[in-house]
Amino acid sequence: MFVRTVRWLAPVVAATVATAGVTVAQSWGGSAPAGSGRVTPRNVIFINGDGMAAAHREAARLFYAGLDGRLVMDSLPVSGQLTTSPRDPETPITDSAAGASAWATGQRTYNGAISVDVNGNPLPTLGTQAKAAGKATGLVTTAQVTDASPAAFFSNSVDRAAQDDIARQYLEVSKPDVILGGGEDWWLPAGSPGAYPDQPAADPTEGSRGTQGDLIARARADGYQYVSTAAQLATVRRGKLLGLFANEELFQQRPEGQGDVYDPPVSLATMTRTALSTLSTERRGFFLLVEEEGVDEFAHNNNGRRTLQAMGELEKAVSVAREYAARHRDTLVVVTGDHETGGLAVEDTATTDESGDGVSAEDGPFPVAGSPLSFNIDWTTGSHTGQDVPVTAYGPLADRFTGKHPNTYVHQVLAPVLTRRSS
Ligand SMILES: [Zn+2]
Repeated sequence: MFVRTVRWLAPVVAATVATAGVTVAQSWGGSAPAGSGRVTPRNVIFINGDGMAAAHREAARLFYAGLDGRLVMDSLPVSGQLTTSPRDPETPITDSAAGASAWATGQRTYNGAISVDVNGNPLPTLGTQAKAAGKATGLVTTAQVTDASPAAFFSNSVDRAAQDDIARQYLEVSKPDVILGGGEDWWLPAGSPGAYPDQPAADPTEGSRGTQGDLIARARADGYQYVSTAAQLATVRRGKLLGLFANEELFQQRPEGQGDVYDPPVSLATMTRTALSTLSTERRGFFLLVEEEGVDEFAHNNNGRRTLQAMGELEKAVSVAREYAARHRDTLVVVTGDHETGGLAVEDTATTDESGDGVSAEDGPFPVAGSPLSFNIDWTTGSHTGQDVPVTAYGPLADRFTGKHPNTYVHQVLAPVLTRRSS
């Protein structure tokens, strides 16, 4: 029975607990009967590298860790694969809305659906259910906080574009304790620019566009601390927290040299750390969704350099989560992606470019860390593909993620943890 237990801990603590599985099991906090070999986690940190599949991870591994190195996200001791197909009448390739709905509800649905079934009926979501079960909940993302992936865990909508209504549902229905990311435009009505000015030079299409009134004022009235800068975030008290750090995404997604910017006012790692310090005060545990949106958006733009940069930021956030889980053994960390974006291939620099020119031309060369070698990134598409995605995991129940499963399987594993009322 302990073989399973030891396996997920092995790379982390093998040196100190090599003697006996019993020691390992007790180090979790003793909530499982001795010999059960399986403990229910109290906390879940679910991390979405939006658009991230195996080749994105491998390109980042070469670039940041080198030929013999390993990313933290790849060193989590359990790994498996997820398929990502939606239930859509028009395509077998998912979008982020259907992908996250599969995680959050266990049902495949159509692209654009936010946790509604194929007929548009709302489905219970893990974020809302975790709250009802007494857990603290939170979401941090470099996208709009109301973008498809977080939205699917904390709202229901027949259309992912209804981000102002999704924000309203956060305040009225799902009530996440921590909301950190971008998308200020959806929390304020037209004519109320907020902390981030309308029609900025970096993207003149941005501007407040909500139809639900001043939701920031409502959040404050509901007891949320509201912050909009890194300095403010650094001084927050514990308690409910809303932080909006951009009009839309925390970056500008464009092809190389065409105004592409990845310089977020607050890093994903910092947002993750802040969220954990707030959520961890709930003794019944927490659910935290962490998302790096830049992987997807820059891969859509076939921008290899920025895709790698976003991967690096995701990796730092994974490190924060993994360090937290190493200190809190009742925490499950899951790292995966909702689909593949770009048809990314890691290629030799010596090959000729077979796949077109313009933005879809090969990018590179990118150096392999600690080596004289380099590699190119090549692209098949500016859209999503049907490639499956790796899932890696650490902590109690991590071993459930071995094997190849549909993405709805995430729900199968997490639902018993997050929907059961804990005392
Ligand atoms: Zn996408």
